[in-house]
Amino acid sequence: LEGDFMSNKFDLIIIGSGPGGYVAGIRAGQIGLSTAIIEKKDIGGMCLNWGCIPSKTMLESAKLFNKVKNDGTTFGLDGYDKKELFFNWDKAVSRKNKTVKKLVKGVEFLLQKNKVEKIRGEAEIINKNEVKVGDMTYNTDNLIIATGSRPKTDNLNNLKKAKVVELDEFFELKSIPDDILVYGNNPNSCEVANMLNLVGKNVSIVSDKKELVPYLDSDVAEFINKRFKKMGVKLYMDKQDLEDAEDGIMADKEFIKCDMIVNCSDRRPILPKMGDLELEMERSFVKTDEFMQTNIDGVYAIGDITGSMYAQAASAAGTTAVNHIAGVKQPMDYEKIPSNMYTEPEIASVGLTEEQMKERGFKYKVGKFPLSANSKAMAEGHREGFVKILAEEKYGEVMGVHIVSPNATDMINEAVAIMRMEGCLEDVSAIVHTHPAVSETLVEASHVALDKPLHI
Ligand SMILES: Cc1cc2nc3c(=O)[nH]c(=O)nc-3n(C[C@H](O)[C@H](O)[C@H](O)COP(=O)(O)OP(=O)(O)OC[C@H]3O[C@@H](n4cnc5c(N)ncnc54)[C@H](O)[C@@H]3O)c2cc1C
Repeated sequence: LEGDFMSNKFDLIIIGSGPGGYVAGIRAGQIGLSTAIIEKKDIGGMCLNWGCIPSKTMLESAKLFNKVKNDGTTFGLDGYDKKELFFNWDKAVSRKNKTVKKLVKGVEFLLQKNKVEKIRGEAEIINKNEVKVGDMTYNTDNLIIATGSRPKTDNLNNLKKAKVVELDEFFELKSIPDDILVYGNNPNSCEVANMLNLVGKNVSIVSDKKELVPYLDSDVAEFINKRFKKMGVKLYMDKQDLEDAEDGIMADKEFIKCDMIVNCSDRRPILPKMGDLELEMERSFVKTDEFMQTNIDGVYAIGDITGSMYAQAASAAGTTAVNHIAGVKQPMDYEKIPSNMYTEPEIASVGLTEEQMKERGFKYKVGKFPLSANSKAMAEGHREGFVKILAEEKYGEVMGVHIVSPNATDMINEAVAIMRMEGCLEDVSAIVHTHPAVSETLVEASHVALDKPLHI
């Protein structure tokens, strides 16, 4: 146990210290709730320790390696032998570990600064007001469950000989083999596959589903499919039966060579022992209302256990839940929460896809602007990508933005701000950007949607 306990009674107990739990803890401390956070593994959860940050740190190393190897000479780098250049996985992992360590320390400091008690160990819920850790029982008026998710394993259960690694192990490996299979169809599987491809590995993506990533706007989905094929990532979608084979596996009787399988399957919630608590579930996840309240008064659920699957959604849900405990009703609006994928190039979206606009019966305007017509992208050597903006026809209110571009995951936040303020195409087209900037493409896309294109 850590912390200086005067009592074991709290206004709020949070189980899990990922981006959902720790952000809830900080906010609760700031508004003066006596708060404890219980963590069985590492402060910062999956996001900091084996999810967002490790994958982004490793991707950055991989992108740098690939750029120097393939474009270095063109960019004017000289004095090195391209054939001698290789990717040192172990060194990249060391850099990743240093980055993670610093961030974890930062979160620990913030929890301490906001007087949040840290309790180390596995939490077991007794009832809505009592939580047990080891021999200790803690009392609380409110409970936030933020225990995260893990990939399913059932699709890989048939494989007895193949080496299957989970993501937390994967980011700790000292070295990796040449032929790697990434199982899953989601942003995580695409990021891992992209990273391995950038460092020169032979990569296959296998999934039992048809799409590489579900719920993407069709233009983005088409782009990513083509891009992965062009990079040389082999795609085996809609494969139902996996079996062991010599030096690989059989997927619906098709041989795929691999020395390792990285499990990026769909995720399922990790729930603590529940005691007397009977939480209502919906499609395998904990059901909540827009304030993150479960069916039990005073018990909230946030983050991956509710099926949201993005760190930013977990953190927003954390503040929403704490605000609600404090009497401030600020509902979650999932449609204004962006999604992000750090492939090369990055992909980010907010709001509705074109298919959803149609399904919901909107008459709409659409503007698409290619990166190939943007000067900053050209200076940086980026040729592929686009910004697509969707607006309802009557007032031109922006309903969705989809970006394929370097730094798309930063650029999307301007679109989020516009949509939160219910901005219209005319508002976007009047925004003056720095020049040159890749984000000028958002304004250009709005010109296209208004039928007044400037640079195409
Ligand atoms: C490879 C990868 C890359 C990703 N990249 C991104 C990204 O770029 N952007 C993004 O938005 N999202 C990304 N994600 C998803 C993101 O990591 C999750 O959405 C986010 O971490 C969920 O936060 P959370 O607080 O719900 O749970 P978690 O971060 O999973 O934290 C849950 C915590 O609860 C603890 N816990 C569980 N049970 C108990 C118990 N009984 N007692 C005590 N403690 C317990 C766990 O140890 C864990 O620390 C990525 C995920 C992966 C796997």
